[in-house]
Amino acid sequence: MRKAKILATLGPASNTQEKIELMIEAGINAVRINMSHGSQEDHTAAIAHARAAAAKLGRALSILVDLSGPKIRTRTLKNHEPVELIPGELFTITTRSIEGNEREVSTNFDHLPEVVEPGTRILVDDGAIELGVVSKTETDVVSQVLVGGWLNERKGINLPNSRLPIPSMTEKDHTDLVWAMGQNVDYIALSFVRKAEDCRQVKDLIKGMNTRTQGRALLVAKIEMAEAIENLDEIIAETDGVMVARGDLGVETSVELVPVYQKRIIEKAVANDKFVITATQMLQSMIENPSPTRAEASDVANAVWDGSDAVMLSAETATGNYPIDTIRTMARIIDAAETVQRQRQPIKFSQPPSGRTSQALCIAAAYAAKEQLTNKVAVFTESGLMARRLSSVRSGLQTFGLTSSRDACHQLALIWGVQPYVHDSGGSTKQMLREGEKTLLEAGVVENGETIIMMAGRLSGHGLSSSVIVWTIGEDVPRR
Ligand code: PEP
Repeated sequence: MRKAKILATLGPASNTQEKIELMIEAGINAVRINMSHGSQEDHTAAIAHARAAAAKLGRALSILVDLSGPKIRTRTLKNHEPVELIPGELFTITTRSIEGNEREVSTNFDHLPEVVEPGTRILVDDGAIELGVVSKTETDVVSQVLVGGWLNERKGINLPNSRLPIPSMTEKDHTDLVWAMGQNVDYIALSFVRKAEDCRQVKDLIKGMNTRTQGRALLVAKIEMAEAIENLDEIIAETDGVMVARGDLGVETSVELVPVYQKRIIEKAVANDKFVITATQMLQSMIENPSPTRAEASDVANAVWDGSDAVMLSAETATGNYPIDTIRTMARIIDAAETVQRQRQPIKFSQPPSGRTSQALCIAAAYAAKEQLTNKVAVFTESGLMARRLSSVRSGLQTFGLTSSRDACHQLALIWGVQPYVHDSGGSTKQMLREGEKTLLEAGVVENGETIIMMAGRLSGHGLSSSVIVWTIGEDVPRR
């Protein structure tokens, strides 16, 4: 059973029920809805297709909605045709509303003239085009084209290392968040997070929304700005999980710093019990080709070895020519990487941070498993929190998350090493253990007579496990 999970972005190449069924069979555990493209109507349909596909196959599938955030963009071009920017020529970005051409284009960012000075570097289209500011007026920024290329409509504009006077959430993000909560999604990703306060605001909004989700969606802070790297500890303390958003990170900082920051972000997230997704250009060449480059295969394996909970596919599955082959390839790379990992480091236990009895219990469960010569642990977890704690210990044990909540089951699909199942909650603790055992037998992941470790928390009062139980399947009482 694969431990690192696969998150695939849905788009025109993949957002039908039939395709999502094939994607689940190929190995995905979660889908990402990217609010930067498409309409809410399209996304509502995509979520319905994803849920129908998961239900048909009887599989858990997380749904993550990625809010666009305050992305600065160029606006429309004449006849919607791309224009060529020639090195050495002048090019103006304006806050006036115009039809763009090869000399000028509008932007959605009204403060642009305020925040640039002559000499400021402006990157367009993920850094493919580079401009140097020459002069400015109240509405126009005149620049010289340093690196030219073809400019399409609505391309991203980055001002590396700058601090911008923009709110972390736009009006569109607010509307999209309300819609996403109405859709009862599992994860909300916030783009262009700069500080912990950005995360607090969204978490408060999620909690405060009077929807049937009751604030259950977990927050993913996308780390893609230099300012977020400076405030990484505070952001990690505030969020539920992070994404190494390498696309914008490489433009907002510099490409050679992406691997440095990737390692730092993953290490800090795992050390603080937060989940982490590594994203962008993982199998980029498979947008066009049926097999990856060797460098891409190594990149996916290294992200797994670094400790990512999940690796993400973007255009590869949203618009690419080979979405299913890409997922199969990613799954095979993860399988191979994890075989080496198991040989290298079967169990890593460090002293849990103080005040984390739940983590001490997870470590105890792993020791008990080693002692009992089993590699299986089942954790009863209503909200999914205890299964996430167990995952963050990275014990390498085969971990079954048992919950009576269908929502929690789907949410756990993205979490490293956890195989989630829904079970009938039962009355007494013993009945609950019996129901859990029945679920695992039906799933074919345990056998009668086999000893496994169970973790349960009915008595703890705060939803976390309070006991580690050595349990033999099919016997009537716990062994010890
Ligand atoms: C990224 O920049 O790497 C990323 C994941 O964000 P988006 O795809 O929204 O640009």
